[in-house]
Formats: sequence, structure tokens, C-alpha cells
Amino acid sequence: MDKKKSFETLCVQEGWKPKSGEPRSLPIYQSTTFKYDTTEQMADLFDLKSSGYFYSRLQNPSNDVVAEKIAKLEGGVAGMLTSSGQAANFYAIFNICEAGDHFISAASIYGGTFNLFGVTMKKLGIEVTFVDQEASVEELQKAFRPNTKAVFAETITNPTLSVLDIEKFAKLAHSNGVPLIIDNTFPTPYNCRPFEFGCDIVTHSTTKYIDGHASTVGGCIVDSGNFDWDKYADKFPGLTQPDPSYHGLAYTKAFGKGAYITKATVQLMRDFGAIQAPQHAFLLNLGLETLHLRMERHCENALKVAKYLKKHPKVDWVNYPGLEDSPYHALAQKQFRNGQSCGVVTFGLKGDREKAIRFMDNLELAAIVTHVADARTCVLHPASHTHRQLSDEQLRAAGVDPTLIRFSVGIENADDIIADIEQALEKA
Ligand SMILES: *Cc1c(COP(=O)(O)O)cnc(C)c1O
Repeated sequence: MDKKKSFETLCVQEGWKPKSGEPRSLPIYQSTTFKYDTTEQMADLFDLKSSGYFYSRLQNPSNDVVAEKIAKLEGGVAGMLTSSGQAANFYAIFNICEAGDHFISAASIYGGTFNLFGVTMKKLGIEVTFVDQEASVEELQKAFRPNTKAVFAETITNPTLSVLDIEKFAKLAHSNGVPLIIDNTFPTPYNCRPFEFGCDIVTHSTTKYIDGHASTVGGCIVDSGNFDWDKYADKFPGLTQPDPSYHGLAYTKAFGKGAYITKATVQLMRDFGAIQAPQHAFLLNLGLETLHLRMERHCENALKVAKYLKKHPKVDWVNYPGLEDSPYHALAQKQFRNGQSCGVVTFGLKGDREKAIRFMDNLELAAIVTHVADARTCVLHPASHTHRQLSDEQLRAAGVDPTLIRFSVGIENADDIIADIEQALEKA
């Protein structure tokens, strides 16, 4: 992080820095293309000899300002925005894996990512091994193969809220000569900065807390610049060997610490085009300006809700890393700012699936939506929604209690949120 400025100040001030007479707010560069005076100026851009903008499928100034801000907040050297969190995770892996390669991922991850890795990437010839992140280093080591290129996990898993031991995973990845990539969506860089614990690349679904208002789908990738690709040059030819699509340029030689993000931009954005709209980057920047305030309130409210639920006779169990009896309490204290994790709490009711449904249907303030990490309190019942094809037995086998409720605590007044839960529990 910028040594002189605190996180809060960076949230508000970093990124767009207008010169005298320029707009105070981040301008939306609503332009697909950019004008040049000479043929040669534009030719140099195409050859990556100079940096600049020519077509928004690759780069747009509004997006770059916001990506740079998120990179600063994470303590990284470079960042890029993508059209969604799914695109961010796909690019993060595909930038260093190709057909015939293999990577390792924690099994307990967001369902969309699980499907992307296990089903869709397999069709591209890239194989994944899913591992239990709680397993011992010796056990995890068995998943590595000669063609393994990366290790992936989430800081706090969605929806099971397990906390990753980042140092354990970073050591494991590095002793095998591969980078650790972490999806840091749930804690956001306000609560956790994975690079400080040895992680190499961070991804985000900015759709969640970073936007924070459920207004734009988006993603982001940030590189720490710490992984030494040249040390394992044979393993990462795409970064270290000449790229025929750019006249034989080698990314690590030409761009140093910027190699990974440059390659993702000029190859993956160029060829797949999952760019974020500059309008969305503008909204994301507005969200970032209050990220520190919102996360503080989300966590404060979530802890109050978790403690309330814990004492309620109709509640069977509560999972929140901030609770003192959580198995992740110590890890949360070590890795997270003031032990704060995120605003999501999961819990189960005494009784059956029907009881959970009656509880959900009686909520008034908390809205039933397929979303989390929003300023407004929202709630989801996996057995009725994301996992509704499964029987109770199948749900339990997947680690999902049929009564599990994923409660995303918003930034309203905590007493109002608790009063809503109370009246719905009474009616359930
Ligand atoms: C939502 C989510 C994603 C996917 O992001 P989209 O922006 O919906 O594409 C990835 N990872 C985590 C942890 C998420 O919560």
C-alpha cells in the first residue's frame, strides 16, 4: 500500500487524479476508439512498443483508473477489470494454463466457479483437482502433477464461510513452483489483503461488496508482481517465451512485474473481449469510495445478528467467523482486519426445510434474492433455490443442511434487521 496514505484515504482519493481544470469526478470515456495524428503512433500501440488506448475491447481509461485503484487497495502492482467475476476467474487461470495443463482448486468455492473449473474448462483440455482445504499439507501435496500450473481458493468460501489458511496454501503452491490465486470477494481488501500472506494473484467478483449496491456485474484481477515466472520458465512458456501474435515479444522480458496483467489484457481481452463497460467502472468507483465505511457496518451488523441468532431457541446452529466459538476465529483474527470477515452469516433452524421456507416468507425487511454482499439485507435458502433439485439426503452429502439459510446482513440499523428476524422466527 501507499506508505503515506491509509486504506480509507485510498478508497476515496486513489485512481482518478484530475489535472487543473479537469473534471473532479471520474469521466466515463464512452468511446470505443481513440484518435491518433500519425500512422506510426497507432502502429506502435499495436506492436506494444508504446502504451496507450486504441480500442475499448482491450483497454479504456475509465476502467484502467478503477483497476489501478483496486490494485493499490490490494497492495498489488497491476490490475484489470473484467465484465464479471466469472470472467476474472476464467482469465486468471487461462492466462497461465492451456490444453494439457492441470491446476488445483479448493473444493469449497462459489458454485459458478466450481462449474467453470470442473465442467467448462475441462472441455478446453484443462483439468482441475478439487481438494479439501482443511487437509494436511502432506495430503494436499498428493494432488500435484508435473503439469500443475496454479493453486486456487477463496479467502472466505461462498456460501459455507470457511476461512482459508492463506500461508499454508502459499507455501504449498510455492514449494511446487506455481502461483497461488485467491478469490478475495467476501472479505474485500478492506478486511483482508492476501498478498501479505504470500498469495500471488487476487480476483474479485466486484458485483458483491466492491459495487455494494447490486447495480453492476463486474470482476477484477490484481497481480502482486511477486511470482518469479522466469525462475520456472519452462512451466510458463506463455509468459516467458516469444509470443508469435506480437512479433515474438516475451512478456516477462518486455514488461517485468507487469507481465501477467499485460498478457491477460493483450491476449485474453483482445481474443475473448470480456471487458467491463466504462459506465460500470464509473459506478464501481462510486462504490469503492465508501467501501471502508460499508464494510465496517456490514461486519458490525453481522456480528450482532450472529450473536442474536446464537441465543435464539429456534436456531439450531450459526456459522460466522467472527463468533468466538467459530473454528475459524483464530485464523480470522490473524488474517483479517480486527478479525472482521464479511457481512454474510449462515444458520440452520431446528426443524425441517418447510420451517426454513416459512421463516423466509415471513421476512419483511430482508429480501429474497439470488445475491449477497449488498447494502440491503438479503437472504437465500439454498434448498429452495440454488440446490433445489437435491433431496434432503443429497443436500447433506453436499454439505448443505436443508434448513441452511444464507443471510447477507446489510448496512441498515442492526436493531431493525434483528426485529425482522425475530418476528419471522415467531411466525415460523
Ligand atoms: C458471485 C461470485 C463470483 C462470480 O461473480 P459474478 O460477478 O457473478 O460473475 C465468483 N466468486 C465469488 C466468491 C462470488 O461470490
